[in-house]
Amino acid sequence: MHNSGRALADAAPAGAGNGIFEQPLKAAMPLKGPGERDCDDRARSAAHPARVMLCRVDSLTDLSHDTRELRLAIEDGGRFGFFAGQYAQIEFAPEFARYYSMASTPAEEQLLFHLRRTPAGKAGSHVAQQLRPGDKVRVSGPLGYSYLRDGHTGPVLLIAGGSGLAPMLSILRTLLARDANARVVLYLGVRSERDVYHEHVLAGLAQEHANFSYAIVLSEPDGASVRRRGLVHQAVADDLADASAYTAYLAGPPAMVEAAGRLLLGRGVAGCDIHGDAFRHQPSGG
Ligand SMILES: Cc1cc2nc3c(=O)[nH]c(=O)nc-3n(C[C@H](O)[C@H](O)[C@H](O)COP(=O)(O)OP(=O)(O)OC[C@H]3O[C@@H](n4cnc5c(N)ncnc54)[C@H](O)[C@@H]3O)c2cc1C
Repeated sequence: MHNSGRALADAAPAGAGNGIFEQPLKAAMPLKGPGERDCDDRARSAAHPARVMLCRVDSLTDLSHDTRELRLAIEDGGRFGFFAGQYAQIEFAPEFARYYSMASTPAEEQLLFHLRRTPAGKAGSHVAQQLRPGDKVRVSGPLGYSYLRDGHTGPVLLIAGGSGLAPMLSILRTLLARDANARVVLYLGVRSERDVYHEHVLAGLAQEHANFSYAIVLSEPDGASVRRRGLVHQAVADDLADASAYTAYLAGPPAMVEAAGRLLLGRGVAGCDIHGDAFRHQPSGG
């Protein structure tokens, strides 16, 4: 199989992957005032035209009670060029096509995804019960505009809810590979201790890079915990009275992305420095 030129844009549900703070805010603001920088850099995404690839499941690894890491090897239609933070459509079977963000960096050959199983989720159940190493899946992309920007030299704020950690890891690793001293802070919000995953990865990166720090925040801790408690955007609010120097990337449940985006606007982050992907479910598929 090769890059068939299938219209990927047609496959995207309304609002999916449009950083929710890009569409409405950019529409509401002049894109460029006198002396201001141009914050509409969507044209850059054309650098990686969408393609359709045939991939083989290399491995499936449990990350937590409901989240698995899917590692894919591209067999045909690659090489896959994308920007850190983008996502793709994975078609496990014709009736099970869903969007997932790349957790791997653009520099890696194999593709990594974090697949979270939701109650009654069809694609999630298919992955849990049927998908096996060696199976073939179709991957289409890249998609989305919530990707790592080049131009910003200030600190970077990453806010993830659950499997929203996937694109944040891609951004984080890409950023630290580009500039080992980049100032980055990541907030990961999950419900309870059993939902925490990849903490060793974050701890390892924090040990290697003094300018990277992270916080894990539990919204519904089920017992005594030394971790921070509450909603993840509230933890950011407690820590950052003035966030105006930051560029922010957000990914996860729509309510989290919405709340975090609004908070950051209130804390002085420019609208065009907030990039978010809300993990909306796709009603048409499966
Ligand atoms: C841009 C984008 C990027 C995404 N990236 C990822 C990713 O990296 N990892 C990942 O795991 N998912 C990601 N998603 C979500 C993913 O595409 C699926 O929507 C999700 O996995 C559920 O699919 P499903 O077939 O299992 O559930 P469906 O069969 O589509 O839904 C079944 C039921 O579950 C409910 N449901 C669906 N999603 C959720 C949810 N998140 N929380 C609670 N209930 C839900 C639905 O309302 C429905 O009632 C992303 C979505 C978008 C739009």
